[in-house]
Amino acid sequence: MNTWSLKRLKRPLSVLATVYGSLLIFVPGPVFGEVGLRVVTDIAPVQSLVWRVMDGLGEPAVLVPPGTSPHHYALRPSDASVLQQADLVFFVGAGLTPWLEGRLPVLSPRADKVNLSSAPGVVIWPYRTLALSHEDESEDGHEHSHGNGHGHSHGDADDAVDPHMWLDPVNARKWLILIGEVLARADPANATRYRENAKKGADEISDLMDQLAHRVIDLKRDGFIVFHDAYQYWERRFGFSAQGAMLPADASTPSPKRLKALRTLVETGKVSCVLSEPQFDRSLIDSVFASQSIRIGMIDPEGVGLIPGPGLYPQLLSNIVERVSECLQRP
Ligand SMILES: [Zn+2]
Repeated sequence: MNTWSLKRLKRPLSVLATVYGSLLIFVPGPVFGEVGLRVVTDIAPVQSLVWRVMDGLGEPAVLVPPGTSPHHYALRPSDASVLQQADLVFFVGAGLTPWLEGRLPVLSPRADKVNLSSAPGVVIWPYRTLALSHEDESEDGHEHSHGNGHGHSHGDADDAVDPHMWLDPVNARKWLILIGEVLARADPANATRYRENAKKGADEISDLMDQLAHRVIDLKRDGFIVFHDAYQYWERRFGFSAQGAMLPADASTPSPKRLKALRTLVETGKVSCVLSEPQFDRSLIDSVFASQSIRIGMIDPEGVGLIPGPGLYPQLLSNIVERVSECLQRP
């Protein structure tokens, strides 16, 4: 057994430690695989896609640890250290990690930096509003905190983009091919292997999409509320539409008006299920719907509790479909 596969076996232990994390004191910092290019990614789903392309040749590191919301993350000294050594950095950009992009030129001066939101052909959606309009929300004195307080400004165009674009598997497929090309150029000796892996990964995602589309065929597509408004890419691809979100897409604090609109929505009977997320505190859901009868499920856009690696991304997609289906079907 080579060092690469040994390392992979050790990985699930650290994941479990992090997931059952209320007891946890130490969250391990990001690490590179022991061979190959030094590649850094922002979140676990992106790490998974890059890992699929590097499979057998190396392991990419990830900055945001499992169970942490990328919207509110702060870089640690161990992150700065891997960024400093990186040959390549892949990140979603477009407002997902406002703490990262502006600092990359300094933190990762020699790395090739790939902003996946501007990859060719990627489907991009603007922020949406559910259950109430933006005007309603700002009337209420809600402060839109996106991008504030992170020590850098970023453009209006970025601010208008919903950054959860990895939840559209068609985007993931495009990214795989791009990642394959970028790695092939950075490490020409292994170019063929990167391109083959990318192609296989893209084909696997196509097959999975067919299976998942079949799985949801008989479901009512709109009777649910999500925790943070992260799922429009997934919803559009699979024909769902959430009725509301507890938090806006940048996961900023919800206004009382938003929460009242959600309670009203539940009263009308249009919604039977609310989906919490592992990286946020569920007590908000419990208090908002305390006097109402609604099923509570859980979905996860970031792969918390899944084993990091090439299989995380497909598993994350299947889990969302499975959990939404269960929540909508339960009697
Ligand atoms: Zn999010």
